[in-house]
Amino acid sequence: MRLGALEAGGTKMVCAIGDETGKIYEQVSIPTQTPEITIPKLLEFFRERSMEALGIACFGPIGLNRRKPDYGCITSTPKLAWRNYNIVKKFEDELGCPIGFDTDVNGSVLGEVTFGQAKGKNCVLYLTIGTGVGGGIYIDGKLLHGMVHPEAGHVLIRKRGDDPYEGKCPYHKTCLEGLAAGPAIEERWGSKAAALADRAEVWDLEADYIAQALVGYILTLSPEMIILGGGVMHQEQLFALIRMKVQDLLGGYVQAEELDDMEHYIVPASLHDDQGIMGCLELARRELEGRCSVSAVR
Ligand code: ADP
Ligand code: ZN
Repeated sequence: MRLGALEAGGTKMVCAIGDETGKIYEQVSIPTQTPEITIPKLLEFFRERSMEALGIACFGPIGLNRRKPDYGCITSTPKLAWRNYNIVKKFEDELGCPIGFDTDVNGSVLGEVTFGQAKGKNCVLYLTIGTGVGGGIYIDGKLLHGMVHPEAGHVLIRKRGDDPYEGKCPYHKTCLEGLAAGPAIEERWGSKAAALADRAEVWDLEADYIAQALVGYILTLSPEMIILGGGVMHQEQLFALIRMKVQDLLGGYVQAEELDDMEHYIVPASLHDDQGIMGCLELARRELEGRCSVSAVR
């Protein structure tokens, strides 16, 4: 089955052709500019290649409720040129094939659950900590949507007493994204995050904030595995710190064998940065399967 995949990010668009086993035949990356400039390039890639369906995992916020008029749209993004852009309709109209659609982070969790280390698990959280913070949640075979979709990166965080930084989120200031995303690290410490690698105090504070958020997710969702991705998590020393602080904050209250093996519970992504694009292949496959089963019932 030939499937198309589009990982639509704020800085780049990754286009690929692959199949339902997660195999990628061809992949290109195109910078994200305005829709007028970027969309024709994406369409050109997909038009020249045949596929049965396309899966799009997209930066957000996006409309995911098929009963609402904003389904398929990028909604209140700060990227003004993309605001209210109906990306699903555009690809449906131009390519004429079924389009699967979800958030970028739901794409990543789907990739990990379908093809990676989280295979066979029922409840998995994927959190990316990069330019922003976002969470994708897989529960009992499905990606979690809801009213809109989870915005796990904006959970509110209790600031540490010795942190004078006011927080970067324009909506909440000191939410997780406002305190712990790459741009917040850079503004607080006055240097590129990657250049702060040997400053222990930077990563101790960072791990504190990430651990607080993870404890909230553990208590509300009870995930069987938490996968942490994104540029900031290239600081591998964060994993050990986060695991320790999560145990500490939980205080032994939640009893589960997963929590006794933290190295396999809070983990880095496993698919060599292809979790997102592979998740798009599965989004495409699921869209096709959904349509086939609906027409069979009819
Ligand atoms: P995006 O979130 O835009 O998709 P990334 O996940 O690569 O992209 O995240 C970019 C952010 O991650 C930047 O703020 C950058 O400073 C930070 N970052 C990138 N590499 C590193 C690194 N090695 N160590 C710490 N932070 C990093
Ligand atoms: Zn926020």
